[in-house]
Amino acid sequence: MPLVTRFAPSPNGPMHRGHAFSAVVAHDLAHEAGGEFLLRIEDIDGGRTRPELIDEYRRNLEWLGLEWREVPAQSTRLERYALAASDLIDRGLLYPCVCTRKEIEAAGARRGEEGLIYPGTCKGKRLDPTAPVAWRLDVEKAMAEAGRLVWSDEEAGCVEVDPSDFGDLVIVRKDAPASYHLAVVLDDAEDGVTLVTRGRDLFAASHIHRLLQALFDLPVPRWHHHGLLMDDQGKKLSKRRGSPALGDQRRAGENGRALAEELRVRWRAHAKIAGT
Ligand code: GLU
Repeated sequence: MPLVTRFAPSPNGPMHRGHAFSAVVAHDLAHEAGGEFLLRIEDIDGGRTRPELIDEYRRNLEWLGLEWREVPAQSTRLERYALAASDLIDRGLLYPCVCTRKEIEAAGARRGEEGLIYPGTCKGKRLDPTAPVAWRLDVEKAMAEAGRLVWSDEEAGCVEVDPSDFGDLVIVRKDAPASYHLAVVLDDAEDGVTLVTRGRDLFAASHIHRLLQALFDLPVPRWHHHGLLMDDQGKKLSKRRGSPALGDQRRAGENGRALAEELRVRWRAHAKIAGT
C-alpha cells in the first residue's frame, strides 16, 4: 500500500515555522517512500477561518519547495459529517448537551487533555434536540461497543486506547456541523491517509480518533507525532504567541528552500536522538 501523508492546517492564523516543520516532515516521509503528500484545508470553523489565508498556505508550501495534491477542504464535506453524526445518534452513542462552559466549570469539572472534562450533566436527561445543542460522545458506551483497541505511533510504539482524559467530548458542536475529531477521522479515511503526521501536541487526540475509526469501521492508519519547534523562550511556536508569519519572510525575498532544508536537518537530528 503506498504511503499517504497529509498536512492539514486550519487557516485561522498565518502559517509559521511550526507549520512548515510539520509540512516538511509529512512531505519527506511520503516522498522518501514513493508515496503521496496531501494538503487538506481544515476550514470547518467558519467563525475563525480567515479565507484570505488559504492561498497563503499554498504559496508558502510552494516557496518551501514542496509538492502536494490538494484534497477537498472541510467546508465542502459538511454533509458527510452530518450523516456520520446522525448514524452515531441513531445508535445511541451521542447525547445532546446544553451546558455552557461556565456551567461546566461551576460543576467542578477536572481539567484534561482537551480542557475541562465534561462531568456528564446532560447525560440521560430529556432535552429538546431541536434547541441549539451540542452532541457528546458517550465514551463509556462507545468503548464498550468497540472493545479493546490499540493504535501504533512511529515513536511511542503500540498504544492502548485510553480516552479517560477526555470525558464525553463534543462530536457535533453547537455552532458547527462537526468537531475537529469527527471531521479529521472521516477525512483521513476518505483521503486514503495511511500515516497521520502531526505535532506531538495532538498525540492524545489519537486515542479518540482510533475509537471513532472503530465505531465507523474505518481503515486504521499509523501515526507519526513529531516533536514541536520551540521559540527562544522554550515555548511552542503558535499563532497566538505571534510567531513570525512565513508569508512575510516569503515576501521579503528570503529563501524558502533553504528554510525547508534547515527544518529537515533539525528533524533528522531529532530522529537520530529518538532512534527512529
Ligand atoms: N487542523 C489541525 C491544526 O491546524 C491539525 C489537524 C491534524 O493534523 O490532525 O491544528
